[in-house]
Amino acid sequence: MSDNDGKKTLGLRGSRPGQVKQSFSHGRTKNVVVETKRKRVVVPKPGAAAGGSGKTPAGGDPRKRPAGISDAEMERRMKALQAAKAREAEEAEKRAAEEKAREEERKRRREEAEAKERAEREREEALKAKAEEEARKKREAEEAKTRAKAAPAPAADPAAAQAAEQRGTGKPSSAPRKKDDRGGANDRQNRGKGRDDGRRSGKLTVNQAMRGGDGRQRSVASMRRKQERARQKAMGENVEREKVIRDVQVPEAIVVSELANRMAERVADVVKSLMKMGMMVTQNQAIDADTAELIIEEFGHNIVRVSDADVEDVIDTVEDKEEDLEDRAPIITIMGHVDHGKTSLLDAIRDAKVTAGEAGGITQHIGAYQVKTDSGATLSFLDTPGHAAFTSMRARGAQVTDIVVLVVAADDSVMPQTIEAINHAKAAGVPMIVAINKCDKPTANPDQVRAELLQHEVIVEKMSGDVQDVEVSAITGAGLDELLEAIALQSEILELKANPSRAASGAVIEAQLDVGRGPVATVLVQNGTLKQGDIFVVGEQWGKVRALVNDHGDRVKEAGPSVPVEVLGLNGTPEAGDVLNVVDTEAQAREIAEYREQAAKDKRAAAGAATTLEQMMAKAKADKDVAELPILVKADVQGSAEAIVQAMEKIGNEEVRVRVLHYGVGAITETDVGLAEASGAPVIGFNVRANASARNSANQKGVEIRYYSVIYDLVDDVKAAASGLLSAEVRENFIGYAEIREVFKVSGVGKVAGCLVTEGVARRSAGVRLLRDNVVIHEGTLKTLKRFKDEVKEVLSGQECGMAFENYDDIRPNDVIEIFEREEVERTLD
Ligand code: GDP
Repeated sequence: MSDNDGKKTLGLRGSRPGQVKQSFSHGRTKNVVVETKRKRVVVPKPGAAAGGSGKTPAGGDPRKRPAGISDAEMERRMKALQAAKAREAEEAEKRAAEEKAREEERKRRREEAEAKERAEREREEALKAKAEEEARKKREAEEAKTRAKAAPAPAADPAAAQAAEQRGTGKPSSAPRKKDDRGGANDRQNRGKGRDDGRRSGKLTVNQAMRGGDGRQRSVASMRRKQERARQKAMGENVEREKVIRDVQVPEAIVVSELANRMAERVADVVKSLMKMGMMVTQNQAIDADTAELIIEEFGHNIVRVSDADVEDVIDTVEDKEEDLEDRAPIITIMGHVDHGKTSLLDAIRDAKVTAGEAGGITQHIGAYQVKTDSGATLSFLDTPGHAAFTSMRARGAQVTDIVVLVVAADDSVMPQTIEAINHAKAAGVPMIVAINKCDKPTANPDQVRAELLQHEVIVEKMSGDVQDVEVSAITGAGLDELLEAIALQSEILELKANPSRAASGAVIEAQLDVGRGPVATVLVQNGTLKQGDIFVVGEQWGKVRALVNDHGDRVKEAGPSVPVEVLGLNGTPEAGDVLNVVDTEAQAREIAEYREQAAKDKRAAAGAATTLEQMMAKAKADKDVAELPILVKADVQGSAEAIVQAMEKIGNEEVRVRVLHYGVGAITETDVGLAEASGAPVIGFNVRANASARNSANQKGVEIRYYSVIYDLVDDVKAAASGLLSAEVRENFIGYAEIREVFKVSGVGKVAGCLVTEGVARRSAGVRLLRDNVVIHEGTLKTLKRFKDEVKEVLSGQECGMAFENYDDIRPNDVIEIFEREEVERTLD
């Protein structure tokens, strides 16, 4: 289109083309065709107007006609124009009608929706008004009732009626006001449509659901709670909410929040009350039962004191009825001096009796076994000889043994552990049978054994006493049957009985953690029958019997009285001497085990103060049946030991008698502490001390060890305690121990001990004792206490020092110096 190359230019029809010459730089020119579109002017023809259209035919005037248009053309055009106009008008009319119809439809719908909403609202309002009305009526009734109660009967009715009337007249006046209020509310609702509505009704209507709401509808439960609150508030203005008085169980100590919980009171209120009482505690702190009682009373509840130990009450302790009891086998422990043949005897009995009836002859060592005598009696032997097992069992509360077989070697006669065994058996009140062993030996002298036993108040039958004695040989097997028959006879005398049909109880003889089987305990059933599946508590452990294995290694379904069995299915390993009890539920078993664990922890924490001489005396005096004070005496020499025993025996009055369980010469040992614990006795050390292991054991078990160096003091103390005349006591506190490493001779001073303070502190002003092999050999004061070259007042543990005694020179390396201080304390019996 840039150049006009003779072709006809493309143009609009009816337009008037023209040319414009454009000049550019560098002399270039360009012709541009410019077309001007002419506007079409429609002029009505005069004929058409005459044709009845009524419109002025502007086109009739040829002057006004666009150039070049013929009349016919003009007419045709006009016709088309008219048709178009008519069509247009028609369409507009149709549109208007449609629009109107739509408008009407919209209006109708809106009205419908509004009507529906209104109806809904009205219904809800009516319901609410009804609820309010009901609440009000109730309140009025309550008021009338209280008024009727308060006022004298005749006056009550008119007054109430009047009151009701007043309120009744007040009602219409308040009703319109309410209506007005509601009207206002309606307006507001209309403005904030939907939301308020939903909140008030508490119900989700289809309408609301359709509208979608704002997505923050309250739950039905929340609305119910709200309504309930409102209802309670409406009712509760005059009527106090009825207080629930509870029985609140309180153990010896209770945590504040738990106390609040048990009273169903708010923790904050309980803490507040405690603060009012001057106790600043938080909700997590424990308070004692007395304080808890005050709080409980303040809140108007009842206290029910329970002891933690009550959890043990579920253990069946009902006495067996005579008719339920059946004979049971005796349980036998073998005791005696080392090497007198206890193990050999146990093995001999087992080999002779158990394996004889066994194919293959394999026996399982489970800590106990049963044998049958030729006469048909069954005997249960504890397979763990020795005193430690016996005393530790007794100390743990399991009196398992019925009969003690005291083994004394005929070639060795009575030895220290023989005497100990006699004392143990006597302390436990268990009858004894003497087995004089090694009678096959040429040097055997059974009669000497009998004679020596006499000195220890064991009078055997051959010496016209009532203790059976049997000459045996564990090696040859001679006399074994006779021994077993003697045991059977003794057991008949004891008339041992148990009730096999009750829940089992028993004692643990051995327990260990087996790699394959988990914790395993050998239990000697003492009463009832232990069955597979039984739930039990044993010491601080509990469990459910998964399997029972007898002493032949066979699985059994149950074990009756006096039968030893291995028990599988424990949650932990108990200790020998622990008592097993079958309970009903796992929860009970677990609870008891947990309680015992805690109690054991507490006991360990409080150990040391458990068995004091005063407590023993107080207990002995309080309990008339236990009018005996058992004691153990260890002394430096036989003479003083005997003197003490004699003095003690003289102390007795009508109320209390002192009984010396055991006495001996030398340091206090762990065995002594074990026996003391089992019998609840204190150990008296006369110029002797406990060795380290005994000291630890005593600390752990809470056994009191008292040291004396003057018999008179000891006698006086025991006498005073027995007669209740407790004067101020001079108590010795050990403040330190030092070991002598070297001894020097210093001219002018004498012998000086180079020491290491091993425990506590060495003090110049304190009293000192010199101990050699735990026996006191000197008591006095220090002449000098030196640290390096200087005289000092104190030397602490771990430091070296030099010490010299006043007026005493016989000091040797390895001697121990005990440093003590005396203090005077008031004594009380509690
Ligand atoms: P325990 O320490 O009391 O258990 O004693 P043992 O049973 O270990 O026996 C100690 C020693 O005495 C062993 O060497 C046995 O062989 C031996 N012995 C045990 N009983 C007899 C017996 O009746 N006659 C003989 N001659 N020796 C025996």
